[in-house]
Amino acid sequence: MNANHVKIVRNAELADTHIHLEQYPPEDAARMLREFRNEGGEFVVAVSMNLESARRTERLAQQYPGLVRPAYGFHPEQPLPNATEEEALFAWMEARTDGSAGTSPSMADTGADAALSAADTGDAVSLSAADTINAVSLSTADSGNAVFLPLVDSDAGAEDDPPRMTAVGEVGLPYYSRLEAAERGETLDEAGYIRLLERFIAFAARHNLPIVLHAVYEDADIACDLLERHGVTQAHFHWFKGSEATVQRMIANGFFISFTPDLLYEEEIRQLALLYPESLVMSETDGPWPFEGPFEGRSTHPSMTAEVCREWARLRGLDESEARAQLLENARRFYDRN
Ligand SMILES: [Zn+2]
Repeated sequence: MNANHVKIVRNAELADTHIHLEQYPPEDAARMLREFRNEGGEFVVAVSMNLESARRTERLAQQYPGLVRPAYGFHPEQPLPNATEEEALFAWMEARTDGSAGTSPSMADTGADAALSAADTGDAVSLSAADTINAVSLSTADSGNAVFLPLVDSDAGAEDDPPRMTAVGEVGLPYYSRLEAAERGETLDEAGYIRLLERFIAFAARHNLPIVLHAVYEDADIACDLLERHGVTQAHFHWFKGSEATVQRMIANGFFISFTPDLLYEEEIRQLALLYPESLVMSETDGPWPFEGPFEGRSTHPSMTAEVCREWARLRGLDESEARAQLLENARRFYDRN
């Protein structure tokens, strides 16, 4: 196909459900968002790599409310955070939830545990001493229930009333780092990554938030085990690849997947598009990750989701505008739930 000829389909819009927006120079992000809007873009889900990345993502969400929906987490393809960094990230995330803790309390990540984390890293959210004591004493009295309201209500100065987080992400397991370690003759121990992923899953369960996963092949089965254990159903496996058995398990759980521009040229992904139900798929770019085939040499742009929609329509034998409407509807259904 000629990727340079993007036919604009009116009255049907687009969502890029996974992009690392903060990794683009700000002027490029601004231009891309404007162009995306002009092409019928409704929203992007901006994922984060770590706390610093989350702070930059939050600024974008504040600049483009509604258009940029922020997800916070820790990308698994990097060395694990140390304990201080991990607690700071969770405290910061906690302050960006709606305080509705307790709807799905989890044994693995109790309110007390997280409140103590917040107390340890009060500087990250500018907690007053009174608020911290309040949070901790509440959690002692009533572990797991509405413990974090004091954080939301605290006078946090510049971070007062930050936008609520849309989702937890990007989180998952280090599949590619493990492969690279094996090529060097080393072994990457996944245990720490699995523990951290379980903590993110418990956090998502407790706050009834969607979770965005980087978990492919056999790692997807580990992620499924953890999601099932915590009763999480709002799971989005972005750029998913895996065995047919895993695919069937994910479908049975109602988990979502998303297709990147490689849907135009990766046979494995094209087969997956034929298999996965139309109601459980979305479009994404994972930008600024670069693509091949017709995208070779082009900077990854959220408007490339138009080409993902078009190719998915072809594969499924759908009308293009019908395909765009379905993929957007799926993205809204998944990311508008809270
Ligand atoms: Zn990503």
